[in-house]
Amino acid sequence: MARVLVGVKRVIDYAVKVRVKPEKNGVVTQGVKHSMNPFDEIAVEEAVKLKEKKLATEVIAVSVGPTQSQEVIRTALAMGADRGVHVEVSAAEYELLQPLHVSKILAKLALDEKADLVILGKQAIDDDANQTAQMTAAVLDWPQGTFCNKIEKTDAGLTIVREVDGGLETIKTKTPAVLSADLRLNTPRYATLPNIMKAKKKPLKKVTPKDLGVDTTPRIEIVSVEDPPVRQAGAAVADVDALVAKLKAGGHV
Ligand code: AMP
Repeated sequence: MARVLVGVKRVIDYAVKVRVKPEKNGVVTQGVKHSMNPFDEIAVEEAVKLKEKKLATEVIAVSVGPTQSQEVIRTALAMGADRGVHVEVSAAEYELLQPLHVSKILAKLALDEKADLVILGKQAIDDDANQTAQMTAAVLDWPQGTFCNKIEKTDAGLTIVREVDGGLETIKTKTPAVLSADLRLNTPRYATLPNIMKAKKKPLKKVTPKDLGVDTTPRIEIVSVEDPPVRQAGAAVADVDALVAKLKAGGHV
């Protein structure tokens, strides 16, 4: 195994309360704290660990997004990635960018960079698509190991433990392959101050989807975005009989 490509998406920070735009065509992103998608921190950690175990020679962090996406690439570099690729799209284009576009971009970069492994997060917490790893594998015609809980290098390739409904599934695959990181794969390290300083000097290349021959014209139109329904206030009841009567009246039992 030699080169690992990791996808790092800039998303609204998980702790921010997301607000729908008055036009109801998206969410407010301006002036809102953004960070690296949490599952991508796990993907970067795994790639850096492979390098520390001398199972990988180079880790390349890729982010598709507006100029500010370079911040999450720098975070990946501070965590131990060797270099970054920023695939620049405008803020307006980013709002309409879909997993298939990102998959085509990542697939092209994987081939150009001669990557042996692509590690992505299982899901971006903004669009909740859970599609990019699967589609990247399809575009490349490489095997995929999604929802990874454990990744082990063997002579024949990789042994992967996957998180599936109600249990774990173990699979074997040859490389090159595309993997997606689940929550329990590892605990990502914090970027230390010296490493943040060092990361500023690591190489970061900028390209556009056009340079890679990828058309990012949207294939779907967002019709409306709604806030979740406001939770109704609770009510206190005197005893169990009153509770049962209320549930029956509301058609709940
Ligand atoms: P999704 O399919 O949108 O839920 O995203 C799954 C994973 O694909 C994310 O956790 C990232 O690793 C990767 N990914 C998605 N969008 C981007 C992007 N714009 N830039 C870099 N990586 C991305």
